[in-house]
Amino acid sequence: MTERQEFLHFIDGAYRPSASGKTFPVVAPATGEIYAAAHEGGEAEVNAAVSAARSALNGAWGALSIADRTDLVISVADEINARFDDFLEAEIIDTGKPKSLASHIDIPRGAANFKMFADTIRTISGEAFETATPDGAGAINYSVRKPRGVIAVICPWNFPLLLMTWKVGPALACGNTVVVKPSEETPATATLLGEVMNKVGVPKGVYNVVHGYGPGSAGEFLTSHPGVDGITFTGETRTGEAIMKAAGTGVRPVSLELGGKNSAIVFADANLDKAIEGTMRSVFANCGQVCLGTERVYVERPVFDEFAARLKAGAEALKIGGPFEEGVSLGPLISAEHLDKVLSYYKLAKQEGAQVLTGGGRLALGGATKNGFFVEPTIWTGLTDESRVMREEIFGPCCALAPFDDEEEVIARTNNTYYGLAASVWTDNLSRAHRVARRLEVGVCWVNSWFLRDLRTAFGGAKASGVGREGGVHSLEFYTELENICVKL
Ligand code: NAD
Repeated sequence: MTERQEFLHFIDGAYRPSASGKTFPVVAPATGEIYAAAHEGGEAEVNAAVSAARSALNGAWGALSIADRTDLVISVADEINARFDDFLEAEIIDTGKPKSLASHIDIPRGAANFKMFADTIRTISGEAFETATPDGAGAINYSVRKPRGVIAVICPWNFPLLLMTWKVGPALACGNTVVVKPSEETPATATLLGEVMNKVGVPKGVYNVVHGYGPGSAGEFLTSHPGVDGITFTGETRTGEAIMKAAGTGVRPVSLELGGKNSAIVFADANLDKAIEGTMRSVFANCGQVCLGTERVYVERPVFDEFAARLKAGAEALKIGGPFEEGVSLGPLISAEHLDKVLSYYKLAKQEGAQVLTGGGRLALGGATKNGFFVEPTIWTGLTDESRVMREEIFGPCCALAPFDDEEEVIARTNNTYYGLAASVWTDNLSRAHRVARRLEVGVCWVNSWFLRDLRTAFGGAKASGVGREGGVHSLEFYTELENICVKL
């Protein structure tokens, strides 16, 4: 990537600047420097993108057979893999995340999302019922799944390519067209994907990208556009509320993947080596900027001190630095604004009476990363379940440890939250694992693991963490319209 590059919109198969000429700066989190300008889309770009998406739906794309369409979707996956290094570099500069993470998760999963959903669509069957009728001749009912139409895809910045393709993959495999609004923090890989679409021959207008912000900008214009048939969104719960309101006009369906305040529960009988390793990842991976990440860790009292000491040692051993540095496992936060937010919680924790086991401040690194948005990995003890730090999503490399004494108590404390995204339970007692897992008010529960994802399984949040489920056949509920055809014999 060259310095100060421009990110244009991708509309109707071509890269375009904004009609208004407006741009916004894009900052590399590891250096704090502006490295690009992205064009800010307004109503003109959103209108053009939605109209291109509609034409493709009614034209070349809509005319393809499922086999030809899914062949194209698979070739998108192949081309992402062929351009792996370009995607990797773009994602790393945009997010600052360590190369080891982006090369193992973000880019491979970005490609896999196209392949997996194409395979799902190829093999899925419909339902059929024979129905008795008074004349004795009967009727046959069968279902067909049709694309929902033009889908608005609104994405966050923490896994830009992975989370966008998690939506674009099934949307295209099901025959929809999309208008993507990437996060204003991370416009790079969504833009690059336009080149892939053109290279493999996806018809123009199927995949469109409009850059910009949320309120009063491309995000709001897109979600309130009457030409959009459905909205899929990943991001903060309060943004999800705004999008749900916008979707109310025209009664458009939404799929919402929202925030969390996830717990890990560590029982005294757990394999502590594995529990420490898993909790280290769940707290600190991607600098804590993972919706599924753990911010509350309940540890059974007999092993509390040992667990706390070992987690602290693990946090203090993390190598923090720029994405291209060898051996780095923790990168920067995404932006100066997010840095302020996380540091405000570091301060609040002390005001709320936390003991700081480790960390608690900003981290000044040298060299090229001296202005990067780095913070110390941080662990607290001594907070009450009612403290704001234990209740609000922080989205940083931090967690609060709290001891517990019995199973009923820890289930109630884990569920004592507005959110309901994910949890992990660490125990070697098989019956307890099953018993506890099903009583947690979450969409995803891991036992003796974390972030072990099978893309065919249902993914989504309970309570304020989301509406609907995506993944495997569950994505069809949102990306297709199910029609029942009843034939009287
Ligand atoms: P965000 O809600 O601030 O922004 C997400 C996207 O929405 C951005 O593209 C933004 O421009 C757009 N947007 C903002 N306001 C809008 C509006 N009024 N109308 C239309 N679009 C609007 O979220 P973020 O800070 O980018 O991401 C972090 C959040 O995402 C965290 O809360 C995290 O838990 C959540 N998240 C959830 C999942 C999940 O699967 N449940 C996955 C990743 C992240």
